Amino acid sequence: MLKTTLAGSLPKPLWLAEPERLWAPWKLEGEALAQGKLDATILAIKRQEDAGLDIVGDGEQARSHFVHGFLANVGGIDFENKKTIGIRNDRYKADCPNVIGPIVRTGSVHSAEARAARAHTRKTLKFTLPGPMTLVDTLADDYYGDRAKMAFAFAEALNEEALELEALGVDIIQFDEPAWNVYMSLVPEWGLPALERAKQGLKCKTAVHICYGYGIKANNDWKASLGMEWRQYEDTLPDIAKSSLDIVSLECRNSKVPIELIGLLKGKDVMVGCIDVATDEIETPEDVAATIRAAMNYVPPEKFFPATNCGMAPMNIDVAYGKLASLAQGAAIVRKELGGS
Ligand code: ZN
Repeated sequence: MLKTTLAGSLPKPLWLAEPERLWAPWKLEGEALAQGKLDATILAIKRQEDAGLDIVGDGEQARSHFVHGFLANVGGIDFENKKTIGIRNDRYKADCPNVIGPIVRTGSVHSAEARAARAHTRKTLKFTLPGPMTLVDTLADDYYGDRAKMAFAFAEALNEEALELEALGVDIIQFDEPAWNVYMSLVPEWGLPALERAKQGLKCKTAVHICYGYGIKANNDWKASLGMEWRQYEDTLPDIAKSSLDIVSLECRNSKVPIELIGLLKGKDVMVGCIDVATDEIETPEDVAATIRAAMNYVPPEKFFPATNCGMAPMNIDVAYGKLASLAQGAAIVRKELGGS
């Protein structure tokens, strides 16, 4: 019970990419970059194990960004002529690749790092992919002209990748859908159906991560505009509870999400965010334990996975791993109180 894990991304080592920024440029190239990505993946696994996490991930060390990383082996996309678009309902501008033809997966995207991760840990291995709605929302589109149609095209490509990751021994495949906290009414309409298509045929556990974004200024400003109570989950969790997804990953620590909304996910496993990724202040194990105790009123311990609110890619690397250690220690405090080990 109370098995700990991370949302997804971790900071990369200094020798691999520019620190403390999103879309950080690589410091290596060619074969050195390919090797460096695998070395960083193995290092991230080792550091998560040392921090005491129960479920580990690749830390997204081999991708420049959690969305655009998936596009490495996907046809129909123009990377040369990026377009500046407003993403997450125009919350911030980003230079995004442009879809100019049918979306087709042309080969493995993440198999190299999935193999490396699997070969170096006996722990439960979780792997993240962007969800269809978030992919659609992070790309310019000169081809489909219909977001739902494009989402289903991505769902097929994601499904091929997910089935391959499962075959390589990944235990949990998590789809990241921060866009679900922005376009709530579209989630039952095509967001969730597209995700169901992306997970079709998978026998491993599947998860969806829905958050308020990385701890970057644009997101922090947006959160400040959301009022005293963040009730976005209230619109989407009832539909998600009825879906075939096994696990739902939510943001809770230092957020204004009314904690009782987690109760809408009755029957699902819940990754509860007990670590704030928008501050460099490292939570104490007791802070983590307090968040777990509060959320445990709505999620029983056997279905409760203490986690981080979101990915940690843009953070200071020592702060990030310090937070993971506190997460594990905080969960251990509560496990002990419950008479477990
Ligand atoms: Zn997130």
